[in-house]
Amino acid sequence: MSVSVVGHSNPDTDSVTAAIAYANYLKATGTDAIACMQISADNLNPESKVVLEKFGLAAPQTMTDAAGKDVALVDFSDIGQAPANIGDANIVAIVDHHKIGDITTGSPIFFYAKPVGCTCTVLLEMYKNNNVELPKDIAAGMLCAILSDTVNFKSPTCTDADKAAVAELLRITGVTDQDALFMEMLKAKSSVAGVPIRDLVFRDYKDFDMNGKKVGIGQIELATLDQVADIRDDLYKTIKEVKAEDRHTVLFMLTDVVKEGTDLMVVSDDPAIIEGSFNGKIEGQSMWVDGMMSRKKQTVPPLQKAFGA
Ligand code: MG
Ligand code: MG
Ligand code: MG
Repeated sequence: MSVSVVGHSNPDTDSVTAAIAYANYLKATGTDAIACMQISADNLNPESKVVLEKFGLAAPQTMTDAAGKDVALVDFSDIGQAPANIGDANIVAIVDHHKIGDITTGSPIFFYAKPVGCTCTVLLEMYKNNNVELPKDIAAGMLCAILSDTVNFKSPTCTDADKAAVAELLRITGVTDQDALFMEMLKAKSSVAGVPIRDLVFRDYKDFDMNGKKVGIGQIELATLDQVADIRDDLYKTIKEVKAEDRHTVLFMLTDVVKEGTDLMVVSDDPAIIEGSFNGKIEGQSMWVDGMMSRKKQTVPPLQKAFGA
């Protein structure tokens, strides 16, 4: 029986390309293996679709049930992120870069994890250490995975090993413009074309109770604010409607991943409390907040403090 190599549920580019890269590695070292993912190719995220298409890689095969199968896990080791019936599978290997999850095995397995920014960084090391030939198209997929997981080296999870791996993969693939490749992926990931405005507002949205006041905060990540230039007024109108439903405040974070800041759209009963929270001035519909990238870490805490929550 061949080994099904699979990444986590709702797969990102690392989970997809690590499955391809590790399946190839296993085959090259004498173990029959198939790259898998827990969704159908149609439902793959737009960034990974672009990566596979650009470099001519076949999408991993769909696998949603692991019962009775030999499986290798990449980019996770949590039961909650595994295919159904993982408890009835024979796990033969795990390659990862996260904290160890709650999956256990009945017998010894190959387990290789490192505290680096991406599973493909770990896999490149395995290819090199064992002199396994790395095909160009797979190398390109791995390159994209590292750029994605490390946000082109901007993420605090990025290590020197990830940077060295990217340098090596650029050499192998002949890709010369790392930033352009990253931008192409980012634009695919953050595409708003054709998405209904209300869906966009609620795509990544949460309501918070701030000392009895209902405060809604939505976010979209963009390669450039130009991506929403044509729909800004419609976004603002929709946010006003959402605010009017029963909320004290609705904020919408238009986060520019390249400039590393957020154009914060504000509709509030008390705009001054928002300006005070982020030391800025609302001009028209929004205020620019330099450095604001994370709702959880940078937007919510100052608001909670200001609202006295
Ligand atoms: Mg991942
Ligand atoms: Mg990863
Ligand atoms: Mg990721």
